[in-house]
Amino acid sequence: MKSGIISLFTNETERSTGVESQLKEKLAARGYQVAEGYDENAELLICIGGDGAFLRTMHRCDFPETPIVGVNTGHLGFFQEVWPEEFDNFIVDYELGSYTIQKLGTVMGIATTTDGKRDVHIGLNELAVTGSKSYSIHLDLSIGGKPIEKFSGDGILVATSAGSTAYNYSLGGSIVDPRLNSLQVTPLAPMNTTAYRSFTSSLMLPPDLTLGIVPEASDKVIYIHNDGIETAYSNLKEIEVRTADKCVNLIRFSDYDFWSKVKDKFL
Ligand code: NAP
Repeated sequence: MKSGIISLFTNETERSTGVESQLKEKLAARGYQVAEGYDENAELLICIGGDGAFLRTMHRCDFPETPIVGVNTGHLGFFQEVWPEEFDNFIVDYELGSYTIQKLGTVMGIATTTDGKRDVHIGLNELAVTGSKSYSIHLDLSIGGKPIEKFSGDGILVATSAGSTAYNYSLGGSIVDPRLNSLQVTPLAPMNTTAYRSFTSSLMLPPDLTLGIVPEASDKVIYIHNDGIETAYSNLKEIEVRTADKCVNLIRFSDYDFWSKVKDKFL
């Protein structure tokens, strides 16, 4: 039984707020109750903006299971499915159930400090670990509890499949079809000299393996970035990175094809 409540999220641009007013009118005319922001009884979430707005919405709502659709207002729009001009067709398809749900996995980093504090960071795109801009960091990396390398360079990024087309791609990482539930570990400016030996390519991990990251010096400032949210640590002991339980249920219509979208957006 659907609740008839739709939660709307909009970024601050003039174009998005204009589109928001139009959509509100259309939804009200179809008998929906529109909530601004998250309503736990909503049957559908709509995010107006680009991928950045989509990421912020997911973090603000703490990755709810409620289906979500993105309305693109002129951005790159990898997560976004509908253009404002297509909104009437969208409502019809939505009511007929003519859509599929694309499940997108997330990545989780559990950070432990030297005084025993634990923080959990979730990313839909990625989780990155870096030092401050002016010096390299040295990280002991392990996979499934087995030491794999001492990384030296700017940092390490762990991307979900959905996030493979974002920062990961700019770093030379591979594009991964979101149907593959995996984590991709991509180095940021790895040093590979006779003094330091680091992998220079990405490593692909299955969903049941954990990446362990231990900074060589726990007193250096280390940053954890999850989807552009930055947290600084001056006493980081270790980070465990693995797939998280939370996932995003993204509405896609019959003509959606991941690889066509990749071609349209990148080539
Ligand atoms: P931003 O720096 O303002 O925008 C980053 C760009 O990445 C935007 O064009 C955004 O698309 C696009 N994007 C976000 N998620 C994507 C995805 N899954 N696939 C393809 N493109 C995607 O930051 P933001 O808008 O707050 O987004 C945060 C994300 O920026 C981070 O998660 C990280 O992946 C990315 N980032 C990229 C770089 C880089 O490529 N050098 C550096 C830092 C951060 P829209 O135009 O549709 O918003």
